[in-house]
Amino acid sequence: MKVPLLDLKGQYSKIREEVRTVVDEVCDSQYFILGPRVETFEKHIADYCGVKYAVGISSGTDALLVALMALDLKPGDAVITTPYSFFATVGSIARLGAVPLFVDIDPVTFNIDVGNVRTVLEKWPKSSKNFVKAIMPVHLYGQSADMDPLLEISNEYGLRVVEDAAQAIGAEYPSASAGKRAGSMGDIGCFSFFPSKNLGGFGDGGMVTTNDQALYEKIARLRNHGMHPKYYHHMIGGNFRLDALQAAVLDIKLKYLESWHEARRTNAGRYDAALKGAGIVTPTPVYAGRGIKNFHIYNQYVIRVPERDSMLAKLRAADIGCEVYYPVPLHLQECFKHLGYKEGDFPESEKAARETIALPIYPELTPDMQAYVAKTLKG
Ligand SMILES: *Cc1c(COP(=O)(O)O)cnc(C)c1O
Repeated sequence: MKVPLLDLKGQYSKIREEVRTVVDEVCDSQYFILGPRVETFEKHIADYCGVKYAVGISSGTDALLVALMALDLKPGDAVITTPYSFFATVGSIARLGAVPLFVDIDPVTFNIDVGNVRTVLEKWPKSSKNFVKAIMPVHLYGQSADMDPLLEISNEYGLRVVEDAAQAIGAEYPSASAGKRAGSMGDIGCFSFFPSKNLGGFGDGGMVTTNDQALYEKIARLRNHGMHPKYYHHMIGGNFRLDALQAAVLDIKLKYLESWHEARRTNAGRYDAALKGAGIVTPTPVYAGRGIKNFHIYNQYVIRVPERDSMLAKLRAADIGCEVYYPVPLHLQECFKHLGYKEGDFPESEKAARETIALPIYPELTPDMQAYVAKTLKG
C-alpha cells in the first residue's frame, strides 16, 4: 500500500466546484492584488482567531518579518526563541540584524520551555550591548506553547510577544488571561498558508493578526512599501501583499477548517491507540480535557523512536511518506556559526532532531492506511 505524507488531491476534489467558481470570479474581475477579496478574508480570519485585526501577507515568512519590522527591531536587539522550528522563525530575526537568543524546548510538547526563558533572562547581563526586545514562541505541530507563563514573563521584563502560529491556525490554549486561539495572545500573531498547513492556499500566503490598532495600521502600510497615502513613504516597508486569488481560495477552505482539524484529531486518536505499548513515543496533547475543542490541530503527528534513521528507512521501503521536522536544530545551522553556539547547548532540541518522525495525518487518510502505517512501525 502507498501512503503519502500528504495528499491534497482528495481535499480538492470535494471543493473543486466552489473553488473554481471563485477563481473564475477573480479572473473575470482582473483584480489580483489586495482589494475586496483580501479584505473579506482578513475579516474572516480575524473573527476565526478572535482578534480585532488581520492583515493578509505574501507568506508566513514575510508575516514574521513584517511583524518584527513593526516592532522596530533594531540591529543588535535580541529575540528569545526556540532552536527547534522551521528556519523562517529565526531567519526573520537574523534578517533584521537582530540576534536570536535560543532557549531549549520542553521535550513533551517540543515547544519553548518557559522555565528556560526565565533562566536566560535572569542571567542576561544588564550591561549587554544586546537589548532583549521580544520573545517569539512557536506553536509547533499545531499545539499552543504555554502562553500564560510566557505572557507573565514578558510583562515582567517588558518584552513584546510575536507568536509564530504558522502551524497552529485555530489551535486553542486554556488561557486564564488572554485570548484563547493561537495568534491572539501575544502582541502579534503570524500565520502561513503554505499548502501543507492545515489551511493551505494554492501557493504562498500568510497573515498577521493583532488587537493593537497602531500595530495594525503600521503593518498594513509596511506590507505595501510603508506607503501612506499613495506614493508618500514615512517608513521603509516591502512588497508583502497577499493575492486576491489566494484569499478567494482560502476563504472557501476556511469554511471546512474545523472539520479538517477534527478529522486530523480522529486520525491522531487512531494512531495513539494502534501504537500503544509499541515502544514508540506518541504526541502528548497537553491541553486535552481542559474544555477546549482545538487543544491540538495536528498539523503534524510526530513520534519519537530511538533508532530513528532505520525506522525512516523501513517506512520508506514500505511506501509510507514520512519526514523529519527538523533534522538540524537552528543553533547548529551553518549560517548561524558566528553566533557561537555548539553541539550540547540545547540537548532537548538536539535529541528531538535525532528521534522524531512525522507520519501522514491529513484528514482524508483512511483507517486502512493508518493500520498499515502502525503495522509497519511495529513490525
Ligand atoms: C511554514 C512555517 C513558516 C513559514 O511559512 P511560509 O508561508 O512557508 O513562509 C514559519 N514558521 C513555521 C513554524 C512554519 O511551519
